[in-house]
This record gives sequence, structure tokens and C-alpha cells, in this order.
Amino acid sequence: MNSSTPYPHLFTPLDLGFTTLKNRAIMGSMHVGLEEERGGFDKLAAYFAERAEGGCALMVTGGVAPNTRGWLKPFGMKLTSKRQVKHHRLVTHAVHQADGKICLQILHAGRYGYHPFNVAPSAIKAPISPFKPSRLSHRQVKTTIKHFVRCAQLAQEADYDGIEIMGSEGYLINQFVAPRTNQRDDEWGGSFEHRIRFPLEIVRQTRLAVGPEFIIIFRLSMIDLVEGGSSWAEVVQLAQCLEEAGVTVINTGIGWHEARVPTIATLVPRGAFSEVTHRLKEHVNVPLITSNRINHPDVAEKLLKHGSADLISMARPFLADPDFMNKSQQGKADQINTCIGCNQACLDHAFELKRASCLVNPRACYEAELPILPAVSKAKSVAVVGAGPAGLSAATSAAELGHHVTLYEASDRIGGQFNLAKRIPGKEEFYETLRYFGRLIEERGVSLKLNTKVSAADLIEAGYDEVILATGIYPRQVSFKGAPEGKVVSYLDVLSGSVVIGSSAAIIGAGGIGFDVSEFLLKKERVDDLDRQNPPQVDLEAFLSEWGVDLGYEQGSGLTVAAPSTPKRTLYLLQRSQGKVGARLGKTTGWIHRAQLKHSGVEMLSEVSYERVDEQGLHIIHQGKARLLEVEHIVVCAGQLPNRDLYDELCEQNISTHLIGGADEAAELDAKRAIRQGYLCARSLSHS
Ligand code: FAD
Ligand code: NAP
Ligand code: SF4
Repeated sequence: MNSSTPYPHLFTPLDLGFTTLKNRAIMGSMHVGLEEERGGFDKLAAYFAERAEGGCALMVTGGVAPNTRGWLKPFGMKLTSKRQVKHHRLVTHAVHQADGKICLQILHAGRYGYHPFNVAPSAIKAPISPFKPSRLSHRQVKTTIKHFVRCAQLAQEADYDGIEIMGSEGYLINQFVAPRTNQRDDEWGGSFEHRIRFPLEIVRQTRLAVGPEFIIIFRLSMIDLVEGGSSWAEVVQLAQCLEEAGVTVINTGIGWHEARVPTIATLVPRGAFSEVTHRLKEHVNVPLITSNRINHPDVAEKLLKHGSADLISMARPFLADPDFMNKSQQGKADQINTCIGCNQACLDHAFELKRASCLVNPRACYEAELPILPAVSKAKSVAVVGAGPAGLSAATSAAELGHHVTLYEASDRIGGQFNLAKRIPGKEEFYETLRYFGRLIEERGVSLKLNTKVSAADLIEAGYDEVILATGIYPRQVSFKGAPEGKVVSYLDVLSGSVVIGSSAAIIGAGGIGFDVSEFLLKKERVDDLDRQNPPQVDLEAFLSEWGVDLGYEQGSGLTVAAPSTPKRTLYLLQRSQGKVGARLGKTTGWIHRAQLKHSGVEMLSEVSYERVDEQGLHIIHQGKARLLEVEHIVVCAGQLPNRDLYDELCEQNISTHLIGGADEAAELDAKRAIRQGYLCARSLSHS
């Protein structure tokens, strides 16, 4: 065991017999959108090499289809011919030069293929896809197995250290294993032995083709979380058969994509599902990888020490911080840029067919286009006004480039609106971003002036070379003439703790903040953590029971009856526009927010017009009909307007002034844009 680091289990090498992994961390597979871009392989090489240099032992590529029918989307990446091998070598050689290892993931999407040529064991449409699949004939099943083998051989030729066979998340292999999607009565369906023949033949034939000294990881669905999935006994049996068939390592898959249980979103407690990997440990001899919502070395170390797994898979945490492992090893975990599980720049982008990146690390997947710059030869004096996400990003990035940076913040702490966001139940990870920026401010020598509301005159007098205004927003006011005093309040009042809301409320505005405030009011009496520095503990049992997850597998698939906690208040969430309430929330997380509110009985109304407020409550017209919502409070979450108070005066004095974040544009603002804009603004100073 490696005792020179605070994480001895995490940094103990793992001998796989023919090769050794230098530590226990794996970067799990992520499709990042570079795969299909022109010149994408060069960019992928830079992306993977940076993570190998950062100390990750083994990385897995995004899913690569073994044939056209297996595409996740039209013209997705596939590896089917020798012509493609040289491109992959750009990646493998860059990784090997950086002392890393890399496996290619073979993914056949089956009925999840977003195209009309998709195939599956049976012709049953997935609830999340508009395309009904064709049933694979017996001959086509055998050809598909051969295509998996061909893909593995090509990966070997491209100098990958191994492959990962994607057998979980509801993709083709999973579709063969589960009766939900396999209703065949030939040798590939019916009994469990028949249903698992497809994955076992793939592994057996692949092992024969690639020889003994090539890593074969199998990603096994250890808990399907859908009706008609595998039982625990079947999971164990399949794992044992896979071991016999020749896999090197088994990775954990949690839940099908169509499952109605959040498995990686920020509200999922850290390491929530690792217990299933732990349960499998006693049944197999090959090393096991655990995964899902492990984003901190403390969690990884604890799971390894506890014997839950032999390896830890982290995917998004390596987008957020390529140096995660080096920092952990050197005892600098407090300097890790922690993945907050928001999905906003990674998974949401993938679903929108855009290049992935990371909300907290705008360089992610742009390593080739945004290389780390050397320090400037002529440092400038830079004032950054506002220590919200935009200002924090600009100030710390400018300081990294060698500029002399002063960061002014009117309040008594850094973070801006993140100090409100972190109080929302399920957004506890936002504390980590503030801890990270706090450390960067110290480390990079930014001069931080808290409790300092600067004016344009202050800035002009100080004579800065550059001024960056990151002064954020003002909440949009909605006022009701004659409303009783204190009945109409702003989200700021609620989340800053200056008012306590009664037992019923109507929320005006169903954007991200309207939903967040609803979740706060359903779960919390009042703000109770004003001075807390560290994230509060998240209750795993409450999460599992709210979403109906049974890690003990009393019934099949790991599902049980959901039992959400009793809501603290009666709520109405309102919007003026037409369409589903919450339709503009994040692609991969919006459904979770809507489901949470629905479970708690929140009435969500669209096409509402607001008439008046009186002692009785809020009078509205809903889809043409007058209605009274008898509520104690009305909470306004009606969007935001930019705070550019200082801008004009500075410009008049010809001060070089930059607007970023909410101060630049409040509409559609989120922290992803704020942090990216701050970073790019700081880079631009070097060249201006
Ligand atoms: P702000 O965060 O508003 O920071 C501006 C700062 O400037 C403030 O600290 C203010 O005190 C300071 N300031 C203003 N004037 C002066 C002055 N004259 N002198 C000194 N200091 C001054 N975004 C997401 O992407 N994902 C989420 O999940 C998410 N959840 C949210 C939940 C809630 C409840 C809220 C309120 C917001 C959420 N957001 C989320 C939005 C996100 O927090 C904002 O987009 C982001 O904070 C904007 O950053 P900013 O730096 O532009 O402004
Ligand atoms: P928002 O998303 O723009 O929503 C504002 C809401 O207010 C809309 O539902 C709008 O709906 C309503 N509205 C606008 N003007 C109004 C008016 N004059 N009177 C009454 N209602 C009005 O803004 P937000 O919720 O304040 O969020 C601010 C930013 O923070 C967002 O851009 C968001 O990206 C970010 N955020 C993100 C998350 C996340 O989880 N990703 C969470 C919180 C915040 P109608 O016009 O239909 O009434
Ligand atoms: Fe993590 Fe959010 Fe970054 Fe994705 S965008 S890697 S979830 S912090």
C-alpha cells in the first residue's frame, strides 16, 4: 500500500496479470462530441493526454459502434475498417506518451439508436426514442457478434490497451439480457441462459481473437431500475459467466436510460449506488469497478478501504479537473475543481448534439484550442468587480496569467448567487465550487476585498489598466398594487433567510429559480445554514425512498414503491407562457425537477395571468378562467435584469472596461456562461 499519500488505497497499483494499473482510478466512458468533428482525433488526443498526465491510470473512450446499425445517432463514431485505425493511433500514442492507458468502448445502441435503421432483440420501441427497432434475425445476431469481435481486433491494432464492452444502461446487450426487451423464443431469448448467450458469445469470441494480454472490461448492469429487468440472482449468474468467458474486469452500470430514477444528477448522494458493486464482490474473482456520483478522493478512498470495489470509475470529475489524481496524491484535495453533477455542459450538450465541456472547467474538450498560456511578459493591474462565478473565474484566470488582480465584493463572502444555489436541497455540491475558487484566490495571489461595494469613482481613482465588471443582476420585480405588506416577496428574501414563508405559497415564474425555490420550500422550513462553510450531509436513505430504489433487491430490478417525504408546504408554480411548465430546464435534469414537484403535489400551471393580490391570496386567470389561489405568500422568481450600474461612467472616462456574466446579459444566464465568459475575458487581456 502506498503510504506517502493521504489516499493509500486509491494509490495502490493493481496488477492485472499481464499489465499493471498505476492507481485505482478509471475515467469512465463519455461521448464528448469531438469524435465526429473534423480534426476531432487531434483534439481527442490533447483531451485524453491531459488527463493521463493528470494521473488517471486508465481511461475509456466514448462509445464506438461496431457497425452502422449500432450507431447511437446518424454518422456517430464507428470502428469497422482498417482505414480508421491510424486516426485512433493519434489518441493511443498521445496517452501512452503521457504514461496512461486507454480502452476503447464498444457500444451498440440497439433500440436506443436515434435513427430509423436501429435494431433490437425484439421489435419493441423504447419509451425515450421515436424509432421502433427492427428485430434482429438469427443470422444478424451472429453477424453482430462478429462485428463486436472485429471492432475489438481493430482496437488492438490501434494500440488500445483493451476494450470495454458496453453491457448496461439499456443498450443492445442489456436489451438481450432483460425480458423487458427480449421476447424472442429462439436460442437468443426465452430462458435466462438463452438471453445471456449474446454477451457471453461476444466475450468468448473476443477473448479468442485478441489473446490473453488485452484488457476486456465488461460494463454490467448491476441494477436495471426498470420493470422487467434482471433479478439479483441473474446479475450474479451473468457476472460469474462473464468471468468464465474471459473478462479481465467488470464495471458497474446503474439504471437504464429510460429508468425514472436519477442516477448521476447532483441530487444523487455521493457513491449512492456503490453498495451493489460491494454485494457482487463475494461472488466473483475478477476486479470490480464501482461508479456513479463519486467525485471526491475521500469517497473513492472510503469505498476502496471498505472493500466495495477494486477500482473507482469517475467520468465527469475528470472533465472538471484533469489533475484530480495528481492533486489527490500530493495531498491537495482542497485544490480539486470538483464536478458538481449539474450535467449542464457535459451530458446536456451531448443530448443537444453539441460538443461537451464542463460548467466549472471551460477548457474541458477545448484543450487543443485553448492551450494553457505562459505568464504574460507585461503584467497589468486589473480590477474585477463582483465575486460571483463570472468574477471568480476572471480574477483567478487573470492572476494565473501573471496580472495583478484586485477582486472587489460588496458582500461578506465570495460566490454571488451560488451562495443561494448551494442552499437548495440537492445542490449541496455548489459549496465545492466556492471552496475551489477560495483556494485559487489564495494560491494565485488575488487581492480580495470583501464588504467593499466599489463605485466607478473608486475605480477611476485607483487607475487600473483594465476593469472587469462582474456585478451580476437585479431580480425582476413584479408588483401588485394594494397587496398587503409582506405578502409578495422575492426569491432573494426567501433564500437569504430574511423572510420565512407560511404554509402555502404561489411562485411566480417557473424558470430554474422558480423550481429551485419550490424544492427549497417543500423540504425546508427556513434557511438554516447561513454560516456553514462545508456542504451538509445528504441523506442516502431519504433519496432511495423518495425514488423507490431498493439496493437490497427484494423485488426484481432494484425497484420498490416510492415514498417521498411529506411536503412542508402547499405550493403552486406558475408561468404566463403556454406549454409544459419547466420545458426549458436542462435536457437531462428537467424531468427530475418536474417529477419531484409532482410527487409533492405541487400544482404547476401555465397560461396564467396575474390579476391582483389581497388578504385572500393571488387572483389569477388560468386558461381563460378566474381562480383564487388561497396562499399566505407570493414568491416572485420572474427572471433577472443586468446590473451595469458602473459601466457608463467608466466608459466615459475611457477606462478599458469589460462586462461579463449577468452584468453583460441577464437573459438565459447560467453559471456555465458566467464562468466561461470570465475565463475567456481574462485570456483576452494578454492580447489587448
Ligand atoms: P452573481 O452571481 O450575481 O454575482 C455578482 C456579484 O457582484 C455579487 O456577489 C454582488 O454582491 C457583487 N457586486 C455587485 N455590485 C458590486 C459592486 N459595486 N461592488 C462589489 N461587488 C458588487 N446557474 C447554473 O448554471 N446552474 C444552476 O443550477 C443554478 N442554480 C441557481 C440557483 C439559484 C437559487 C440561483 C439564485 C441561481 C442559480 N444559478 C444557477 C444561476 C447562477 O448562480 C448565476 O448565473 C451566476 O451566479 C451568475 O454569475 P455572475 O458572476 O454573473 O453574477
Ligand atoms: P428564467 O429562467 O428566465 O425564468 C423566469 C420566469 O419568470 C419564467 O418562467 C417567466 O415565465 C417568468 N417571467 C418573466 N418575466 C415575468 C414578468 N414580468 N412577470 C411574471 N413572470 C415573468 O429565470 P430564473 O428562473 O430567474 O433563472 C435565472 C437564471 O439562472 C436562468 O437563466 C437559469 O439558467 C439559471 N438557473 C439555472 C438552474 C439550473 O438548474 N440549471 C437553476 C436555477 C437558475 P413566463 O414569461 O412564462 O411567465
Ligand atoms: Fe460535472 Fe457539471 Fe462539469 Fe458536467 S458540467 S462535468 S456535471 S461540473
